[in-house]
Amino acid sequence: MEWHDQLPKVKTLPLLDQEIIACRKCPRLVQWREEVAVVKRKSYQDEIYWGKPVPGFGPANPKLLIVGLAPGAHGANRTGRIFTGDSSGDWLYGALHKVGIAKIPTSNTIDDGQKLKETRIICVVRCAPPGNKPSIEERDACAPFLQSDFELSLPTTSAIVGLGSFAWDAVFKTLKALGHPVKKVKFAHGATVNYSHLGREYLLIASYHPSQQNTFTGKLTRPMLESVLEKGGRFASVIR
Ligand code: SF4
Repeated sequence: MEWHDQLPKVKTLPLLDQEIIACRKCPRLVQWREEVAVVKRKSYQDEIYWGKPVPGFGPANPKLLIVGLAPGAHGANRTGRIFTGDSSGDWLYGALHKVGIAKIPTSNTIDDGQKLKETRIICVVRCAPPGNKPSIEERDACAPFLQSDFELSLPTTSAIVGLGSFAWDAVFKTLKALGHPVKKVKFAHGATVNYSHLGREYLLIASYHPSQQNTFTGKLTRPMLESVLEKGGRFASVIR
């Protein structure tokens, strides 16, 4: 099945989130997310893992949309909230707080009081994949959820941040499937695309993903991530 053949059917965010959480479409990912939730990491042995697909986080009418790759096995797959409970989340929410979008600088648990200002974070694939590498088939199986999240957000969203090349590519595929006249630009940290559609202006902006692979090696620094989020936030008038 082609990406654009899978039209979104869900029309409210709570229903979409319910549908995502109940999904068991990808056998390999269902098996992995549930196995990780049983075996657990030693340091989290006493915790009950979420072990299900992870929906987006943030208000239903965001001006800024942030798109990541997939839940972390011991992060969002453990806590149930995207980018929560691991190093990637520490970086992302830390940067969002620094630029004035996140209420608190940390994101440790689903009930920590974190709130995002007019911003929503979603992922291309909603189940934790082995090695953080979903297959193309798994990406395409999850595409209707991404399209639905975009469809529900786009009436208010004008800036979209893609974290990593996998998410950057998915942003273009999804916008094209939804009829936006957007031309793809090769992924690079800080790459931007401006376009207009039906009288509205949009900004797409790319960042390296805040994975340990990038943050430990210094490929992505905190100022680099903050700069991208600030540009997106200012364009969307989340930050003034
Ligand atoms: S990755 Fe997406 S489509 Fe596949 S099982 Fe998880 S939620 Fe369902």
